[in-house]
Amino acid sequence: MGYDTLFFNGSNDSHMIATALAEGRVILTRDTQIMKRRVVTGGQLIAILIMSDDPELQMHQVIDTLNLDCQLRAFTICLECNQPLVERSKQEVKDLVPPYVFQTQSQYMECPACHRIYWRGTHWQAMTRKLKKFIKG
Ligand SMILES: [Zn+2]
Repeated sequence: MGYDTLFFNGSNDSHMIATALAEGRVILTRDTQIMKRRVVTGGQLIAILIMSDDPELQMHQVIDTLNLDCQLRAFTICLECNQPLVERSKQEVKDLVPPYVFQTQSQYMECPACHRIYWRGTHWQAMTRKLKKFIKG
């Protein structure tokens, strides 16, 4: 969806909270203990307690609560680095993508940080279909 995100595995809540405060991030969590922290109850830090185990319902909750747009910035940043992707020509990526991809795809994007190449393949198609479900009517 093009929103800057970080994943924490839950082993160090203090580090996660400090990072969220320093970088102005919203915490999405299934951990009720985090919701009881003073920085959260005092309104210093926004945290959302994710209610469902179902990923689709989780998406709905986050999109509705934060009033996110699921189309506007979709596929614009790197999934690993959060860096805005840069367009690359077919020739520029010739030796960087599998031959089948090179033959079948014409549009490419590159992450300026990790140099991962993105194209509109089957993963992109599947994610686009999924995101369509979350467009507000
Ligand atoms: Zn990257």
